[in-house]
Amino acid sequence: MKARHCASEQPEDRSNQETKTTTCYMCACRCGIRVTLRDGEVRYIEGNPEHPLNKGVICAKGASGIMKQVSPARLSKPLRRKPGAERGAGEFEPISWEEAFEIMAQRLSHLRATDPKKFALFTGRDQMQALTGLFAKQFGTPNYAAHGGFCSVNMAAGMIYTIGGSFWEFGGPDLERAKLFVMIGTAEDHHSNPLKMAISQFKRSGGKFIAINPIRTGYAAIADEWVAIKPGTDGALFMALIRELIKQGLFDRDFLIRYSNAAQLVNLDAERDDFGLFAQDTGSAEETNTGAKLWWDRTTRKVVPSHSQEASPCLLGEYQLDDGTPVKPAFQLLAERVESCTPEWAADITGIAADTIRRLAHELGVVARDHKIELPVAWTDAWGKQHTVVTGNPVAFHAMRGLAAHSNGFQTIRALSILMTLLGTIDRPGGFRHKAPFPRPIPPGVKTPTGPEGVQPNTPLGGAPLGWPAAPEDLFVDEQGEPVRIDKAFSWEYPLSVHGMMHNVITNAWRGDP
Ligand code: SF4
Repeated sequence: MKARHCASEQPEDRSNQETKTTTCYMCACRCGIRVTLRDGEVRYIEGNPEHPLNKGVICAKGASGIMKQVSPARLSKPLRRKPGAERGAGEFEPISWEEAFEIMAQRLSHLRATDPKKFALFTGRDQMQALTGLFAKQFGTPNYAAHGGFCSVNMAAGMIYTIGGSFWEFGGPDLERAKLFVMIGTAEDHHSNPLKMAISQFKRSGGKFIAINPIRTGYAAIADEWVAIKPGTDGALFMALIRELIKQGLFDRDFLIRYSNAAQLVNLDAERDDFGLFAQDTGSAEETNTGAKLWWDRTTRKVVPSHSQEASPCLLGEYQLDDGTPVKPAFQLLAERVESCTPEWAADITGIAADTIRRLAHELGVVARDHKIELPVAWTDAWGKQHTVVTGNPVAFHAMRGLAAHSNGFQTIRALSILMTLLGTIDRPGGFRHKAPFPRPIPPGVKTPTGPEGVQPNTPLGGAPLGWPAAPEDLFVDEQGEPVRIDKAFSWEYPLSVHGMMHNVITNAWRGDP
């Protein structure tokens, strides 16, 4: 096509324009963008083709980032309720930034000097949690939370408490090497551009894409197979898939033994305080880096320290320690737990036919077992054992809020993590791979204060505003066991609240509690 410029047209004067490269903060993908400014004002946003993550691709939301700067609805000045106006009447007057800062400094310093917890800082999805959390901690208030508490926090909490990392900014599917990809409970804005590009490449290289979602839109529309599921029932599907993998013997025994606690023995003496916890040989001289936890070695028929190099532990069965304590491997307890979760049971709950569930389990297990990947990369594992290659089971998953945003989300996502563990697809090529700095220790060591004494006038908070409780003594409660925070996070009511419970504040306020 010929250019439509006529000879007399002058090229546009771009001397007042400049292009800056930066990162899109409209979601957690962090795509690279180029922002064109004219006279210092944002005029245009496009994807940065040089950026390794999105290679120039930009989504509608990212391109609309310009509206953060120029939307007529954007607040450009501080507003103060007009004197005498009723709360909620929406009558405000603009004031200067100097006046706003003066009012804020006066009120906040009074609160900080008297009772810092009266300042509650609840932020939106601003991608600035590191900074806002630091501000809350330095201020000394425990009442801090971000939007994650009612969004995808179950996805982060369920997986981080189980495997040390999660999807999206924590890790994701290795679609470059996967052969089977299962996406469940995911909408188009969940890990948007990088995932779209990866799925496109995955499909072109012949991978099979199964979408499990109540509706067939977006990603599911281009799936090779769409499995319709009733909303909020994904956990039942995972439990049935786990049961079938165990029944059909399609779990990765080596992976479970080496990289999970599946073979570790659990104390089943109901009379003891440590009933239900991992049995430990506290006097063991051979303590490994899993502490003094134990395996039952099927060759010597004896108890041995977990992860002993020469041992071959039992995953199933019932045993007795030397002192007569009854024990079972964690995997045996899992098998017992899912025994009643038959495909027929799950079919009633999920709406997916029992035969389809059986077939899915078989397909997942067979691809993981029979299509192994081997990369010529030497590495040393956590026990000092050297390997000449990295192997992988090419079954990858991606999941998001369709699982997370339900009251059963935490347990559903734990079940997904266990399913992935059984298939041996964690931190391996073709499966799920963490992004640095994940995986974290399980759970991460960050803790909130454990009592009201952690909140003192004119003093930074005596712990992190958000944390990962691992035991009752980590809870943030007073002497009566009542919550210290106004959203009741990290209390007996909501122990594993991780991002806080901002949504509770509104309900609590409506109830007059406190
Ligand atoms: S996916 Fe879209 S909104 Fe998210 S970072 Fe990339 S361009 Fe921005």
